Amino acid sequence: MVAKDAGSRIRRRGLMLVLSSPSGAGKSTIARNLIETDPGFELSVSVTTRPRRGSEIDGIHYHFRTQREFDIMRDNDELLEWAEVHGNFYATPREAAEKAMAEGRDMLFDIDWQGAKQLKEKMRGDIVSIFILPPSMKELKARLKRRAEDQEAAIETRLKNARTEIEHWTEYDFVVVNDDLDRAFSQVKAIVVAERLRRDRRPGLFDFVSGLLDENLE
Ligand code: 5GP
Repeated sequence: MVAKDAGSRIRRRGLMLVLSSPSGAGKSTIARNLIETDPGFELSVSVTTRPRRGSEIDGIHYHFRTQREFDIMRDNDELLEWAEVHGNFYATPREAAEKAMAEGRDMLFDIDWQGAKQLKEKMRGDIVSIFILPPSMKELKARLKRRAEDQEAAIETRLKNARTEIEHWTEYDFVVVNDDLDRAFSQVKAIVVAERLRRDRRPGLFDFVSGLLDENLE
């Protein structure tokens, strides 16, 4: 027998959705689409020491910080995870993420394999991770060139690092190949739908089921 008000006493914890991929595999577009079409998701805005690109806004795409500011945040334990990627430092601010989780809001993390690994160790059952693969390395290179927001040297670094990133694909719960953006996006949405239906993410079901069992059919 399920206690009648058990559901209202248990608070839903948020879902932490981690998206990783090599640069240029379409992860940022998928992340943006998800944020724009699913009001249940909030994007975790990372801290970085990377120089701001022309199209980026401080506080929206990243919190752009100097190396010294970054080091202070890290030493003060303000970062839930941090990593060096392509020669710059990136990190997830602790406060926003922990608050969202505790309040039962879902959060999206666009982070690399090192960050995904650290979050998994710290947040365990709250994490659902998806790795996005490009259809081919040739296509990945073409996408990086089309984006043309980085210097030629940065593109070469990203291509070299893509291989390392891809080698970690087995550490993720789900894998999506982005050969067609619409299809890749609907696969990511399907994962989200299924994960939200998990019994342990739905404490409200206790009340619903006990109501079902108590229903008077006379
Ligand atoms: P970009 O410089 O192209 O914006 O990002 C480079 C890489 O850093 C991407 O793979 C991105 O997912 C990763 N990244 C962005 N924010 C974070 C973060 O907070 N932590 C970690 N570990 N990686 C991040």
